[in-house]
Amino acid sequence: MKYFVANWKMHKTYIEAFEFLEHFKNVPIGLNECVIIAPSFTLLWPISKSMGELKIKLSAQNMYCEDKGAYTGETSPIHLKDCNVEFVIIGHSERRNLFHEDDELISKKLKKAFEYNITPIFCIGETLEQRKNNLTFDVISKQLSIGLSKLTESEIYKIIFAYEPVWAIGTGINATPNQAEEVHEFIKSFLQKNFFKNEDINVKILYGGSVTPNNIKDLMSISKIDGVLVGGASLIPDSFERIIKFNRE
Ligand code: PEP
Repeated sequence: MKYFVANWKMHKTYIEAFEFLEHFKNVPIGLNECVIIAPSFTLLWPISKSMGELKIKLSAQNMYCEDKGAYTGETSPIHLKDCNVEFVIIGHSERRNLFHEDDELISKKLKKAFEYNITPIFCIGETLEQRKNNLTFDVISKQLSIGLSKLTESEIYKIIFAYEPVWAIGTGINATPNQAEEVHEFIKSFLQKNFFKNEDINVKILYGGSVTPNNIKDLMSISKIDGVLVGGASLIPDSFERIIKFNRE
């Protein structure tokens, strides 16, 4: 299965979102393709009611780690279930950097998502400074060990990991296939060693960071890549369609 996740961030009005969905009515989605869109919270309900025959699945961009209570402005997994949301992005670098989400909070969110049977798309990745200082693997190790600390082996198996180097997000500079492959391999072996008793478990790892129709083919050619998480290029229906169809052109 190959995953194509559209993270719309804080973009798209109701009308724009429905124009996008209209476009995808004519885009066939293969049996081994999983296409997921992550619109803003306010769009989850109307979109969930209008999916019809569309094979696109719904993700939230975030959620809080409690069921309910005095948490003004937060969105609980119960609200996401109301909207038939199947996935939730957790630990996106914009949440970590702009909204100061730390690994501890992220680990609680991951646990809570599983309580409600929502599959987390768990983002990890290093900043440019960390990469320059050879800290990439240390950073990823910390994000994984604390992030996953509350989860069972079978929960970890269900996660969709997304390696998103922060320096590649929204910058137009994507990681080279070699750079992405090196980190994907590291994530896989770290998980095997620390969570799967060295068994060769097939975890799902996506790449995210300036993916476009022009670089998708190269990126998808690396060995351990199960798909992509796309920001900017997912806002334009035609470019997201070309990303999904990268192998058919
Ligand atoms: C993202 O938002 O996760 C992302 C990868 O954005 P972009 O594709 O714009 O770099």
